[in-house]
Amino acid sequence: MNIYNTLSGKIETLSPIGKNKINLFVCGPTVYDDSHIGHARTYVAFDMLVNYLKHSGFDVFYLQNITDIDDKIIKRAKERNIKPKDLAIQFEKEYMADTKTLGIESVKKYARATEHIKEIISQVERLLAKGFAYQSTDGIYYDVSKFKKYGKLSGRTVEGAEDGTSRIDEGVEKKNKADFCLWKFSKEDEPSWPSPWGKGRPGWHIEDTAITEKYFGPQYDIHGGARDLIFPHHEAEISQMEAISGKSPLVKYWVHTGFLTINGQKMSKSLGNFTTIKDFLKENSPQVLRMFIFSSHYRSPIDLKDSSIQEAKANIEKLQDLIYALQKVEVTESLRPSKELGGFDSPFRQLQEKFWQELEDDFNTPKAKAVLFEIVNSVEVKLQQQNLTKEEAKEVLDFLKQINKIFLFLDFKKVKEIKIPDEIKKLTEQREACRKNKDWQGADKLRKQIDEAGWQVEDSSNGPKIKKI
Ligand SMILES: [Zn+2]
Repeated sequence: MNIYNTLSGKIETLSPIGKNKINLFVCGPTVYDDSHIGHARTYVAFDMLVNYLKHSGFDVFYLQNITDIDDKIIKRAKERNIKPKDLAIQFEKEYMADTKTLGIESVKKYARATEHIKEIISQVERLLAKGFAYQSTDGIYYDVSKFKKYGKLSGRTVEGAEDGTSRIDEGVEKKNKADFCLWKFSKEDEPSWPSPWGKGRPGWHIEDTAITEKYFGPQYDIHGGARDLIFPHHEAEISQMEAISGKSPLVKYWVHTGFLTINGQKMSKSLGNFTTIKDFLKENSPQVLRMFIFSSHYRSPIDLKDSSIQEAKANIEKLQDLIYALQKVEVTESLRPSKELGGFDSPFRQLQEKFWQELEDDFNTPKAKAVLFEIVNSVEVKLQQQNLTKEEAKEVLDFLKQINKIFLFLDFKKVKEIKIPDEIKKLTEQREACRKNKDWQGADKLRKQIDEAGWQVEDSSNGPKIKKI
């Protein structure tokens, strides 16, 4: 498959280090609050991508970290007068509940930062020993001027990093503005762990590389996350791990999801449009959210507005109606064997191939969606013409089931098998005989009898069709 790599700025052929095995890491949540709908976009998009990679035959190890120690957690816990650890546990539970509701099962391992302190300290020690880090009064900092390739992911320079607005550490004695904290010395009432430099806690960026080094080693295949993490977070990860290992690149493919806006506006608490996953799911099903996310390319910005939610709902209803109709064809006993009916001459098989080709091309789900609805429309035409055999219905259903393993927006509740009673079959055959002999009165009489028994006979180019009323 081809995939866009933020590191090269190009679409590249995906060729994992270990041939068939893919090690994939996505930045997990900082557990101090409920996850919002923007997070859901990223996590659902990666869930779909990982499901697709598995479908394509890759053995994927999907790893996610849980930031369970951080300034925001400490601050929020103080406001609530509870322990930071208890706050983190509470919101980790909420996060896990959200992912379950959204149908995300692709993550193989969730790794808490606080359970990898030993690995974090080891990374800081190695950075100090190699001269990439220095100690100041409030912690250990990474010296970005020592890492020659700083900025290769984000395109920022050591000087240019100054205009960064997001989560840059405010150290009082930093050598360079872009230097970031690896280990923060703790104040009296803050959570802390012992280290060679005194009691403290990890900086934000170091937990990711400590965790990925433990499970994947110094180099791995895919690192994902939302676009806003490219700088400084992902840039810092590269600086840390490549400095430690001397190996480059840390990650072969950097994959980033686009932003989510609400009615064209950035989501923020001050604008009053802040929507948590739970808020959204009060009024909509998880399937609607997944269809909405499927409808846009993972790299594109997406705008959540009423019309797009309505469209996702309508799309799902259309697919569910089709599934129901196909299941009925599949379970309804035919009067004649399928091979006597017309062959399947719709472009369905080619369209199916086209659907997969679109996904191969940088996981282009909006284009795949367009092909999916071409299939739906061509099948609907055949259904209307009563020209779809059981085998064909099964083939379409199998295709939908296959894609649903990746996208999870459909429901395949079984419909009961519909058997045509012998009596009705006999009446239908008698009616056919009447029609052949142009005995219209007799045919009408028999149709009435069939009707009264709760069945309906419809004449099609392939002979009579019997349906339960
Ligand atoms: Zn991260």
